[in-house]
Amino acid sequence: MFESNDLLSELRSRQPLLWLNPDAGCPLPANAPTADQITEAENRLARCEPLMAQLFPELHASAGKVESALVPADRLQSALTDPGKPQGTWFIKRDDALPVAGSIKARGGFHEVLALAESIAIEQGLVDATGDRRLLASPSARALFAQHTVTVGSTGNLGLSIGVMAAALGFKAVVHMSTDAKLWKKERLRQRGVQVVEHEGDYAQAVAGGRAQALAMPRCHFVDDEGSLMLFLGYAAAARHLAKQLAEAGRHVDAEHPLFVYIPCGVGGAPGGITYGLTALFGPHVHCFFAEPVASPCMLVQLAAGCAEPVSVYDIGLDNRTEADGLAVGQASYLVSPLMATQVAGIFTVSDDDLYTQLHVVKRTMKIELEPSAVAGVGGPAWLSESAAGRDYLRAHNLDLSTATHVIWTTGGSLVPPEEHRRFQARAKAPGVSHG
Ligand SMILES: *Cc1c(COP(=O)(O)O)cnc(C)c1O
Repeated sequence: MFESNDLLSELRSRQPLLWLNPDAGCPLPANAPTADQITEAENRLARCEPLMAQLFPELHASAGKVESALVPADRLQSALTDPGKPQGTWFIKRDDALPVAGSIKARGGFHEVLALAESIAIEQGLVDATGDRRLLASPSARALFAQHTVTVGSTGNLGLSIGVMAAALGFKAVVHMSTDAKLWKKERLRQRGVQVVEHEGDYAQAVAGGRAQALAMPRCHFVDDEGSLMLFLGYAAAARHLAKQLAEAGRHVDAEHPLFVYIPCGVGGAPGGITYGLTALFGPHVHCFFAEPVASPCMLVQLAAGCAEPVSVYDIGLDNRTEADGLAVGQASYLVSPLMATQVAGIFTVSDDDLYTQLHVVKRTMKIELEPSAVAGVGGPAWLSESAAGRDYLRAHNLDLSTATHVIWTTGGSLVPPEEHRRFQARAKAPGVSHG
């Protein structure tokens, strides 16, 4: 079932590694989401912008658009690379600062709740297929939504995103969390009128708890992080905006100018959706790598085992215990893993110690404060240029790093309380990043 015993023992030893996907570039399964479905998600988010601006004062400035900046990362690049070896140009994609939800989960989560609100309102004749979505904030729409419940199981950030959006529209919102989820996240949700239910055990048990409750309840929508197409499409819609930002920054993407993207991976929805959207736009010229904790490499384990049957990190003897709570997932999404089987270029793993070191370096060089999960992609460029597997990849695809664009996707942190950030920084042992 597992492609190599060497890989298995390396994973078990919890040594950070880069795994290259042997099936990258192969055709997608026949039932894969279509480009039209991504466009539909983009259109939905666009037509809901006036509604979003009305619901959230912090979105006035962007006229309701929930997007993040693409910022040059020269200072981080100089701190982490040898100036004698040209490595192309680094950027950070700042989903850590996505408004309202403070993490990448805003993309998928808001999209799913908006799609639900639209479908209920259309069914009841309150709005038509594409008309003014500010009607979804009208008293009659709110009265309608108040009869519906939205539930989700989450390690934290998805709960924040779904809970805040659902409550803002007037839905009853219930978030199932594992007991070890961060206290401040639970408190923030309760302050917004969201019911928080705590579960013993890990993320998968919180999800199972949410699913069971939703099945037993009338007019209850369960946001299924392990298999939701609406979440996936919301993430995929990020691609077109990034393409526009790259063009504005004068970065071409083609065979001579490859685009490398490094994204932290939990259950796989966020990095998978983004990879899917970017591949639809850039084809073979985009190379997406995922980053997973050494204790929770669920997507790596699933892809290396083939997608015929579910395989979890527990199955290979790992414990799924990591400070990167957004990535502490034992079993990858059953929707996303078969899609990533031919799209993700590779996956590297990262230790908690390295995450803390990277948090410190990013703060020192970029003045950006991230949460541990959010920084996992930072080691990506070094894996490509400095590891044997990375150099194999560049050689096999005939890629020139000196003309490359590297996008490190940072995924959460702007809502983390200052005292938590101080704790993260205190955990960072020394400046400078080690890997491998
Ligand atoms: C959830 C999360 C991710 C990963 O997204 P998945 O859809 O679970 O793969 C990465 N970073 C942060 C901060 C997250 O909360």
